[in-house]
Amino acid sequence: MLRTHTCGELRMEHVGTQVALCGWVQRIRDKGGMIWIDLRDRYGITQLILEEGQTAPAILEQARILGREFVVKASGEVIERKSKNPNLPTGDIEIKLAGLDVLNPAKLPPFLIEDETDGGDDLRMKYRYLDLRRGSVRRNLELRHKVAQQTRIYMDGQEFIEVETPVLIKSTPEGARDFVVPSRMNPGEFYALPQSPQTFKQLLMVSGFDRYYQIVKCFRDEDLRADRQPEFTQIDCEMSFIEQEDILQMFEGLVKHLFKTVKNIDLGEVPRMTYAEAMSLYGSDKPDTRFGMKFVELKGLFDTVDLTSGKNFAVFDNAELVVGINAKGCAEYTRKQIDELTDWVKRPQIGAKGLIYFRHNADGTLKSSVDKFYSEEDLKQWSVRFGTEPGDLVLILSGEANKARKQLSELRLEMGSRLKLRDPNQYNVLWVLDFPLLEWGEEEGQPEQGRWFAMHHPFTSPKQEDIALLDTDPGAVRANAYDMVINGTEVGGGSIRIFQRDLQAKMFGVLGFSPEEAKAQFGFLLDAFEYGAPPHGGIAFGFDRLCSIFGGADSIRDFIAFPKNNSGRDVMIDSPSTIAQAQLNELKIAVK
Ligand code: ASP
Repeated sequence: MLRTHTCGELRMEHVGTQVALCGWVQRIRDKGGMIWIDLRDRYGITQLILEEGQTAPAILEQARILGREFVVKASGEVIERKSKNPNLPTGDIEIKLAGLDVLNPAKLPPFLIEDETDGGDDLRMKYRYLDLRRGSVRRNLELRHKVAQQTRIYMDGQEFIEVETPVLIKSTPEGARDFVVPSRMNPGEFYALPQSPQTFKQLLMVSGFDRYYQIVKCFRDEDLRADRQPEFTQIDCEMSFIEQEDILQMFEGLVKHLFKTVKNIDLGEVPRMTYAEAMSLYGSDKPDTRFGMKFVELKGLFDTVDLTSGKNFAVFDNAELVVGINAKGCAEYTRKQIDELTDWVKRPQIGAKGLIYFRHNADGTLKSSVDKFYSEEDLKQWSVRFGTEPGDLVLILSGEANKARKQLSELRLEMGSRLKLRDPNQYNVLWVLDFPLLEWGEEEGQPEQGRWFAMHHPFTSPKQEDIALLDTDPGAVRANAYDMVINGTEVGGGSIRIFQRDLQAKMFGVLGFSPEEAKAQFGFLLDAFEYGAPPHGGIAFGFDRLCSIFGGADSIRDFIAFPKNNSGRDVMIDSPSTIAQAQLNELKIAVK
């Protein structure tokens, strides 16, 4: 080995020892008579010291030609520092330099290799290998490693076995487009990259593996919304001979284990909420429950008396839903602040037509933006329903129910942020249960032809008691499907699966597959179900996302060693790229 120690490990107890360190030159301070060099490696930074009259002239000379990021080997004696640096674990000592080898010089890096860098996003991505030298980025990957390790420890302890599934496969529908790979040996035919190992893990259950998991790459060719990666990692899991409750407990266990070992946080029992509740109280199937501000309907679907009708206010009269939130303590908002919020909800991203409000003033009076239509008496009723107190401001949206809920959900999150109710150091974990099995939608490129789509995926089992509804009211069928949500982000989801051939075939039918199409695409699974398929179910966690949550960051990109940018490009290796004509010929692909 070229070194005796790392740059992070020397302490007072090493004083007097001869050591050799290797690393990158972080910084050089040349004060004439004295030179200090900060030497950095993965483990930390150690200071080297050179002194005119003490250090050999040849070494001084060599030190003076060093530049940032030179790779060097430094040897000498560990000595106690005169002025200690309490901010550095190695800050009590320094190395009295006696030998210096330049292992490799370096060009000046295009940005500062420091936690606070001057490099913009694009530059850092182009030189990602330099970006990864920065402590802040490196720590994210260390955290990722730890989360993976602890996942394996927990899963192993529960008798799960890690099985690799293939990457060159055929479409597994998770609702996104497939990435495809042409087959040279089978011209005109293509593999698909897995959107998930879904069908394989189910087949492993048929094989009797019983408890499977895999930390696995998945690929989805989606229009890149912010913070999605075309390839990402899942903790993918499946179990046999279980019911939904078993899955919830097993994986609540995993998440608790991770919080404990990675963050030293004792997570209590994870609360549960049905999809229907989540939608009505938060307008979202992944509510941020770090704060309340629950939805209250003045007119809507829930058994409440309509408190808006009969006053000739057309906006409310024509609305399917009138729903609001109580922004506690905001009655003092100025007209300008409210106008600004109104503009905020009217932005195309939110799409509300307007914002109605009423204040519960400090003196107890009630004042609304629709005083023309609603009397103080009416407002009193509103106030009771919202449970307002003096000082509160109620913000109300209306319109088509689903839209209004979605818009108010955004507004709720925005108000939560403005009121600093979304504490990044607080973790609210939640199970959302009883998702609908199906949702009505339109086929890509065929806007006129709606059909049912699987809300989770086509292998999800309907609730036993709802199966009859498949024929009469498919939209009302609930699934044995569940999501795990942390602070408003979906971190995992799964379901109990269909394991009987007939029910699976029926499900494909509901989803618009002809029996021939179903056989062509999923014949292998339908066949397998005839050879003794056990009842089974599972879940997959978004591994990158979990890491970003543990790391307290918004972006998953920071937790991926070599991520792609928002256009799906790797700007470092410049991919995707064209390929040679000869390669195309071999693949029998004609490009216009
Ligand atoms: N395959 C599913 C997904 O990727 C997870 C599961 O159902 O286990 O979302």
